[in-house]
Amino acid sequence: MRRLDRETVDRIAAGEVVTRPARVVEELVENALDAGAERIEIEVDGDGTERIRVADDGRGMSADEAELAVERHTTSKLPDGDLTAVETLGFRGEALASIADVARMTLTTNDGGPRGTSVHVDGAGPRSAGSRPAAGDDVTVDSAGRGRGTTVEVRDLFHNRPARAESLAAPATEFERISDRVAAYALLRPDVALSLEHDGRRVFATPGSGDAADAALSVYGREVARESTTVDATATATVGDEKATVELRGLLAYPSITRASADHVRIAVNGRPVSVPALRRAVERGYGSLLAGDRHPVVALAVSLPPWAVDPNVHPTKQTVALRAADAVAGVVEDAVSDALSTADLRRSADVAM
Ligand code: ADP
Ligand code: MG
Repeated sequence: MRRLDRETVDRIAAGEVVTRPARVVEELVENALDAGAERIEIEVDGDGTERIRVADDGRGMSADEAELAVERHTTSKLPDGDLTAVETLGFRGEALASIADVARMTLTTNDGGPRGTSVHVDGAGPRSAGSRPAAGDDVTVDSAGRGRGTTVEVRDLFHNRPARAESLAAPATEFERISDRVAAYALLRPDVALSLEHDGRRVFATPGSGDAADAALSVYGREVARESTTVDATATATVGDEKATVELRGLLAYPSITRASADHVRIAVNGRPVSVPALRRAVERGYGSLLAGDRHPVVALAVSLPPWAVDPNVHPTKQTVALRAADAVAGVVEDAVSDALSTADLRRSADVAM
């Protein structure tokens, strides 16, 4: 038996963070959102292993920050190391380093200065905390022309992880996972203009107007956009001895539009699309008898809670969160959905000639 060295541990961890192309897209989109982007453009070739490119107009990075960003466990998002106060999507500081471990990555960024910076990392070895990679190693740093914002291009994902590459599903399935995740961000953050291109063809582009119905129109098309209502509610849930303000914003399609799978019930907690079965069931209870037995609604619901009521740190991929007092929050969600549907004019669809 032997103790694993730091590099090996980091390499294993990289495999856990980046399990498939959709995970790369998620991490890059979350970084763009954390950087305050108003516009995010996503391009994908093939199943995503060939090329993923995410460009944002967020605050960008200085040359020093850009070099640091690709090292493991470097983050600008935990100023005092206080995990309970995290309000950004990222905070572990391992996404870029993990992606760089399993791909060829070029990060081009500008924080508003006259010149930008480009950092190219070729997935040879892992970067450990504090071991600043030197140019000429597997990291190349150049100056680059670019307006404010950041572009990350990831090529040849898993070129050095044949087993991981083998375990991927068919290209169409991998791309579906990507487009599903991007759709979730687009629907749950209608204030951000998000676009997705696949093999050079536009899949959808939201206007970033802030209106959930506009985002739904871009992602789902006219039918869903017409046959839906928006929710905008604030309520209080009792969590232990404390009161938590719960804000709910989003879109509920009328029961005239249903799906066979629950995948179209999309929920974000504090800006991150997550799977919280208790909340999905609460949404469906809010529809009550309006839903036929085995059918599921089309929903995008952004739930905002005080950070102390959420523990996002349960899983490396962060797709699940643990809620304190999930029952109380679920109750608030169920009531808000049921209220929004009961005040919506569900006959409207029948009256409107298409
Ligand atoms: P984390 O998001 O957990 O901090 P990452 O590895 O995803 O870790 O990113 C490391 C750091 O790089 C971030 O904390 C941030 O400072 C910077 N960064 C990454 N992506 C962007 C971006 N799109 N715009 C601005 N800064 C970014
Ligand atoms: Mg991140």
